Amino acid sequence: MKTFVATQNAGKLRELRAIFAGSPLELAKPRKYPAVVEDADTYAGNALIKAQALAAILRERGIEGMVLADDSGLEVDALEGKPGVYSARYGGADIGWPERRAALLAEVRGVPPYRRAARFVCALALIEAGREPLVVTGHVTGYLLEVESGAGGFGYDPLFFHPPSGRSFAALSEKEKNAVSHRRRAADALLAALRGRV
Ligand code: IMP
Repeated sequence: MKTFVATQNAGKLRELRAIFAGSPLELAKPRKYPAVVEDADTYAGNALIKAQALAAILRERGIEGMVLADDSGLEVDALEGKPGVYSARYGGADIGWPERRAALLAEVRGVPPYRRAARFVCALALIEAGREPLVVTGHVTGYLLEVESGAGGFGYDPLFFHPPSGRSFAALSEKEKNAVSHRRRAADALLAALRGRV
């Protein structure tokens, strides 16, 4: 089933493609991606906003296919769950990723290791014409490092230490990250929900 992905984030698209490879969803990049205001206060709400906006454009153009959207973020316990749903804009909308990560590290400077627990959360929304949307979430727990580690991944990956892997997400290969990530867990939940649907 051709499934258009409502994201402009190259890192997310690459991971989703690898994670859904071999599944019934054949992921594709839409030609046009709508500018949407992600103003829900949950990942699920924002994933649905993104999916519905792209589904409306495809419908207008008579393009058939399902739509998949990802809304995700990093939650740090010592910051009461920040940056959370504001992860993409944390520290300012116009700064680059090294600066955004530095802004987050500055906020937790001096916080001891036992208070640096963090989790990545991912909501996936799937829209298929004539059906109720499916929305699921997945998460993975770890803690925030004091300095960046690893050269892979994207976004906050160099700051997120995953204890079962013994490394940061940025130090894992894509295959390793995709086997344990919040995105993988949400994808597994989505595929299970699809299988369970009559
Ligand atoms: P949004 O879902 O477009 O609102 O953006 C979520 C932001 O959270 C992304 O821009 C990333 O910065 C961050 N994020 C989400 N998933 C990951 C991940 O797997 N690794 C690193 N950062 C992530």
